[in-house]
Amino acid sequence: MTAPPVLVAIDGPAGSGKSSVSKEAARRLDYGYLDTGAAYRALAWLALERGADTDDEASVLALVDDVDYAISLDPDDYWVRIAATDVTDAIREPRVTAAVSGVARVGAVRLRVNALFRALVAESARAGVVVEGRDITTVVAPDAPVRILLTAEPGVRAARRSAELTAQDADAVAAALHRRDAADSTVVDFLTAAPGVTVVDSTDLDFAQTVDAVLGVVTGALHTPLPSAQTGAHDGR
Ligand code: C5P
Repeated sequence: MTAPPVLVAIDGPAGSGKSSVSKEAARRLDYGYLDTGAAYRALAWLALERGADTDDEASVLALVDDVDYAISLDPDDYWVRIAATDVTDAIREPRVTAAVSGVARVGAVRLRVNALFRALVAESARAGVVVEGRDITTVVAPDAPVRILLTAEPGVRAARRSAELTAQDADAVAAALHRRDAADSTVVDFLTAAPGVTVVDSTDLDFAQTVDAVLGVVTGALHTPLPSAQTGAHDGR
């Protein structure tokens, strides 16, 4: 019997570098990569498509019952689909980002998507999966052998996000990010490390240094050789 995949849980707020760092760490480890935010975004996209009210819990729940959702766990071939529609890019649109917190605050939705996340990881043929989100270290996989909280100061996160979204006004991007953080943090606390979770603060790190810091935590926890130098990590206990 093959062992279940090793789970590397990474949580953090928007603009911490979580998605790109998690994807690159997965590549370097030859692990799968699961973006859990994509499921909430896909539901928000579907709600907008159908004109469903994201403030109404029953309407949101009805979408979960109906959605034919698929996501790739391959860090080199990332896509998200709803039935036959590729929504990889559409779920990043500002209108979806603005609607997503409304979907994510519904407890019954969270239970359903969490079961999906666990099933996706269990089905992975790779030796491990890097799973990133807001509540992976605390709710989805509190027993994961590696649990990391990736943080950065709010101003740095806003600047990174607006560098990604060059077509949008920097102040508007920063305001939207802080609004989303505030809404999301009423549902799960992704700004404080739970006991046993290692904090990687990327405020003063560039992308490569952040990836190295994360890989350092992973290889240290799994007692495997470090692929590169460990920087910027401290234990958040
Ligand atoms: O990570 P990303 O910004 O794509 O996440 C989109 C949204 O999905 C977050 O703003 C949050 O509302 C929700 N989310 C969540 N729990 C997760 C991952 C994402 O509530 N594990």
